Amino acid sequence: MYEGVVQDLIDELGTLPGIGPKSAQRIAFHLLAADAADVQRLIGALTEVKAKVRFCAVCGNVAESERCRICADPRRDAHAVCVVEEPKDVVAIERTREFTGRYHVLGGAISPIDGIGPEQLRVTELMARLAGEEITEIIIATDPNIEGEATAAYLARQLKPFGLRVTRLASGLPVGGDLEYADEVTLGRAFEGRRLIDA
Ligand code: ZN
Repeated sequence: MYEGVVQDLIDELGTLPGIGPKSAQRIAFHLLAADAADVQRLIGALTEVKAKVRFCAVCGNVAESERCRICADPRRDAHAVCVVEEPKDVVAIERTREFTGRYHVLGGAISPIDGIGPEQLRVTELMARLAGEEITEIIIATDPNIEGEATAAYLARQLKPFGLRVTRLASGLPVGGDLEYADEVTLGRAFEGRRLIDA
């Protein structure tokens, strides 16, 4: 335990995902020792991102205007929508250059332990898109772990009545991991080899 503002900083850093008490302490002391100009740049980046970046009204990806770069691009195939957990997964799939369609970002995965059910995810928004857009294929690209698989199974059941082609990325992705940790070639292959889901 440290005094006042130092402990406040450690506590704040400790609320970030993946930052445990030890990391929070290490980052706090790194910042204390850093040049004022470096810290100012970090503050600037944080302020800018909160002021300028929001979530796309259509897909939930990060965006600098009402629609994200992908939703606003008329060259993207409007028939195929790839469903992912987080905006970082959009980046991972874009890197493979395998996919020319659009995305839908759920904002997480079903996880009863963490109190996250379908209501906490952007599932209703996805269903609304099915009614309003010319979507013929949904590619479910949730993470290859328990939560991701549960989410994929749930979505496949919800999507069944719509009579769409519903596919899931092929196996071969590192099981239990995050989509973003797969290398481009593996992820690209998983995309190409996507298979139909029977719900
Ligand atoms: Zn979008």
